[in-house]
Amino acid sequence: MQTDGETGRRASPGAQATGPPDAAASPPAAEIEVPAWSVEPPAIRAKRPRTRKAARGHVLEVDERLAAQHPDARCALDFTTPLELLVATVLSAQTTDKRVNQVTPELFSRYPDAGAYAAASREDLEEILRPLGFFRAKAASLQGLGAALVAEHGGEVPADQSALVALPGVGRKTANVVLGDAFGIPGLTVDTHVGRLSRRLGWTREQDPVKVERDLAEVIPQERWTMTGHRLIFHGRRVCHSRRPACGACVLADLCPSYEGELGA
Ligand code: SF4
Repeated sequence: MQTDGETGRRASPGAQATGPPDAAASPPAAEIEVPAWSVEPPAIRAKRPRTRKAARGHVLEVDERLAAQHPDARCALDFTTPLELLVATVLSAQTTDKRVNQVTPELFSRYPDAGAYAAASREDLEEILRPLGFFRAKAASLQGLGAALVAEHGGEVPADQSALVALPGVGRKTANVVLGDAFGIPGLTVDTHVGRLSRRLGWTREQDPVKVERDLAEVIPQERWTMTGHRLIFHGRRVCHSRRPACGACVLADLCPSYEGELGA
């Protein structure tokens, strides 16, 4: 899950919203073309929700629209077990989900369980992980992760946030991805897209992902945490780009205090 910058620069009318500026970060998003300036401009710019109650209503309306706009929103990493998702998410640091998906078929077939990672040859792991960059560190992480899972959890991935973040190389973001997508336990994943959209939509002013997660937990219903996160990520990749958000093609234009473009009559 590659991170990117946030300049806050906005699109202007006529700007091309098509194309995949964030394409490297998401194969599914790259397949979607967003038409430029296809949404009626709002008559007035939306205001930030001023109360928690207002923010909760705002969140629900935004999420319903995003659900309609991105019905294919999902975890972009390929996996079939909690261990595979945990490994893939750890590997996705500093690279793209697409690249991770290219190396994991061989990785998962050669290392089917935590013990296999613990006992793996460092050189063999590094060779498989080489296309991802930082392959030496990532190979060491997988060995350490496998050893910790064997030593502390009988080789199983724990379905518990505290236990997950205690594993080597696992932070809150990774833990929430695994909880939400492998175990069906609501997890609020705050990546670069979720953070950026949450600030633009007025749900938080924080930059620190842990503080953003705390703010979002106050206004997003818990049962929606996982899927709202996926939908925000898809919208960030397809429309609300970090450097040039396609406000004119955005279904949230009339709800967004950060809309920049011509207002309608
Ligand atoms: S959410 Fe939509 S309207 Fe708001 S800044 Fe992003 S692209 Fe523009």
